[in-house]
Amino acid sequence: MSKPTPEVYERGRGMDAHNQVMRDIRAENDQSYDPHEPTRVWIDEDNTPDGVYQSLTIILNTGGCRWARAGGCTMCGYVAESVEGGSVSHDALMDQIRSALDHEAAEADGESGLVKIYTSGSFLDEREVGAETRQAIAETFGDRDRIVIESLPDFVDAEKVTEFTEQGLETDVAVGLETATDRVRHDCVNKYFDFADFEAACAEALAGGGGVKAYLLMKPPFLSESEALEDMNSSVRRCAAVEGCHTVSMNPCNVQRYTMVDELFFEGGYRPPWLWSVAEVLESTTDADAIVVSDPVGHGSDRGAHNCGECDDRVQRAIKDFDLRQDPSVFEQVECDCERTWELVLSEEASYNMPLSR
Ligand code: SF4
Ligand SMILES: [Zn+2]
Repeated sequence: MSKPTPEVYERGRGMDAHNQVMRDIRAENDQSYDPHEPTRVWIDEDNTPDGVYQSLTIILNTGGCRWARAGGCTMCGYVAESVEGGSVSHDALMDQIRSALDHEAAEADGESGLVKIYTSGSFLDEREVGAETRQAIAETFGDRDRIVIESLPDFVDAEKVTEFTEQGLETDVAVGLETATDRVRHDCVNKYFDFADFEAACAEALAGGGGVKAYLLMKPPFLSESEALEDMNSSVRRCAAVEGCHTVSMNPCNVQRYTMVDELFFEGGYRPPWLWSVAEVLESTTDADAIVVSDPVGHGSDRGAHNCGECDDRVQRAIKDFDLRQDPSVFEQVECDCERTWELVLSEEASYNMPLSR
């Protein structure tokens, strides 16, 4: 007689189940992307420990995140934009950098002091970006002031960070921590690492002469509005308390195509957070020892953080203003009747009646 093993009981549950569902959802996407063009490039302004800089943001197409191919995070649609079949060559990646520089020359007011490179995965993962490419990119941007590179904590090591700091660049590793609460990160986001790994990554970045910018996700699926708010309040504080983590970017979850969040949204089971919640966290964590910013994507739309439709642009403007000045009084100037609805949602929404309002 065959004996049941623990694996039999685990199959179809927990992370296994999350991953299986997400692979099926992503398989619905059949578009393909050019490996010689970056996924996206834009010019913006960013607050850093050395003040506000014009920034060049590049989303490199590196073939996508390894974790995403196994299933990935419940809200992440980036992998659907990646190159089919895995890796992108050195030459193609450098073509993407050249294309981003052309975009900057055409659109920006001179060279940006800050360059931010995201990969929809991990720039410091050798299987996404090889050592040769990483060094060539460090040299290409060596004359700028500051660089941000995205990586999951596993791949952050002091030596790789030093390749950038040696160029004289202030270097920040952007880590998609999502939340400081391990339970929420595992069960709601389906991310596999722990807060302790984030702390270790901060220590590595610091040892390489750099720092860390933590990215948090407000309101992953399965949390009520008040749980999400509480999770962010404590996460901002816990991140700010880690040595080496000088900036926290707290961003509301938005509904991306080919994700579990999208499926829930379609069935009426998910509402992105209220902009009031974003403002509340920014306002109530101003005493935390870090720059805290937020950039709500798709604000005001059903798929992004939104309020009633009347006040969304005003609240978004206050948030952007806060990002640059870190002055909580910007929120005193925005009011709307829908604050009452938001307060009701905070007090009455529970996991069995979500979402309480659209
Ligand atoms: S959020 Fe990051 S780690 Fe998760 S699937 Fe997307 S790219 Fe990968
Ligand atoms: Zn309103």
